[in-house]
Amino acid sequence: MSPANTGSGAGTTLSAPAAVRTAGGAVLLDGKMVAARVRAAVAARAAAFAARHGRRPGLAVVQVGHDAASGVYVRNKRKSSLEAGIESFAHDLPADTGEAQILALVHALNHDQRVDGILVQLPLPAGVDTHRVMDAVDPAKDVDGFHPVNTGLLAQKRPRLRPCTPFGVIRLAQEYGIALVGLRATVVGASNIVGRPMALELLLARATVTVCHTGTRDLRAEVERAELLVAAVGRAGFIPGDWIRPGAAVFDVGINRTASGKLVGDVEYARAAERAGWITPVPGGLGPMTIAMLLSNAVDAACLRMGTRA
Ligand code: NAD
Repeated sequence: MSPANTGSGAGTTLSAPAAVRTAGGAVLLDGKMVAARVRAAVAARAAAFAARHGRRPGLAVVQVGHDAASGVYVRNKRKSSLEAGIESFAHDLPADTGEAQILALVHALNHDQRVDGILVQLPLPAGVDTHRVMDAVDPAKDVDGFHPVNTGLLAQKRPRLRPCTPFGVIRLAQEYGIALVGLRATVVGASNIVGRPMALELLLARATVTVCHTGTRDLRAEVERAELLVAAVGRAGFIPGDWIRPGAAVFDVGINRTASGKLVGDVEYARAAERAGWITPVPGGLGPMTIAMLLSNAVDAACLRMGTRA
């Protein structure tokens, strides 16, 4: 497979963005640019929703404590919400907030008619049962798509609110005309929030999916035969560029900070870009796509709740 030949599958080809190539030759999957397109479409839908219902779609963002990295994400999410015409309700709780208080807030937000989406920023402080908190979110307001009901619906091929990062990978692939049907796709990482739902999304798109994790015997062999690779491990340069199959589509979800303070992905980028057909940069790939899909989910949740389309 190569950018000139998007594979034998009959995947959806949307209006592909102009192909910009990396120094290595691969087409750059420009998440920042596609995310801007998605956000513009979300803003139009949010405006239509507001005109119809007399209020903007509402997104509550709950943060407990002051994890520096989460703080940046949360601020970005709030800023992007407002820019897209989505009302943002900020709930910043001190780090020593107990589980009962967090649950009480989630219950209140579940019943708040101005709130269509609830996002609880992870990680929660030690001692708080993350599953209990996430399970308490009304599945209809679960804009992260992490609730077991939404994961279950995705597993059953009837997705409703879809996990933002995996959904962002699919959207980026579609925008660049990467045909997913029949593709040999490998996901490295099997977490509940990225790897597993990613595998379900790729299966839904009718790729042939392999999932690798700490129990995988020969990771190199699995990566080498991948026509599409998603890396979601959380270790800088964990996948050597030489492992990338020539012409493969590489989606690097990892966000890692090096000792010098630079943000890098899980894939050794420079060498991988010489072999891949397509590759996402870090930063500027799945990070902006994740936020864009979150906003898209917020408007979807608002419309689903009101029983309308926008
Ligand atoms: P996680 O720690 O929950 O999961 C990591 C996964 O990697 C696990 O399933 C584990 O089995 C697998 N793994 C670890 N070592 C391995 C090995 N040696 N071989 C094979 N598999 C191995 O992490 P996560 O929450 O899924 O996040 C992964 C990365 O993605 C992190 O860098 C995180 O910051 C990033 N992330 C980015 C976005 C985004 O918006 N771009 C969103 C979520 C997560």
